[in-house]
Amino acid sequence: MEVAAVLKNCKECNRVFAHPTRQLCEDCYLRAQQAFEAVKKFLEENPRATVAEVAEATEVDVETIYEYIKQGRLSVVPKDAGLNCQICGTQIEKGRVCAKCRSELREDPLAAAASEAEMRTSGSRMHYLGAEIKRRRR
Ligand SMILES: [Zn+2]
Ligand SMILES: [Zn+2]
Repeated sequence: MEVAAVLKNCKECNRVFAHPTRQLCEDCYLRAQQAFEAVKKFLEENPRATVAEVAEATEVDVETIYEYIKQGRLSVVPKDAGLNCQICGTQIEKGRVCAKCRSELREDPLAAAASEAEMRTSGSRMHYLGAEIKRRRR
């Protein structure tokens, strides 16, 4: 006796196909796999790339790339990808938590380490700015 195939429409191309768990037909599934691999590889080789640069180099949609980021599938994210505070979800530029949550979480060792690293960065930037001002005053 034959097991009844689960027929469904591919989410990508709408073609009818049979697979118990997959949302995409064989063609689209393979294409999606290849697209993901291409994005992952490109980012590993170009960790400072922007989303637009990744999209251009890999020919993968910007939306698809954001989808990977949202799903946390990429170990390296594009430098302009929106990061969100892990506590309140506010958009942040770097790190794991926003400034507000960080100040509330000062006792947390992870948050403390993150803020220390950040202070070091902004400290050197301030130093740089100070030098700029001095130069301009002359
Ligand atoms: Zn398909
Ligand atoms: Zn927050």
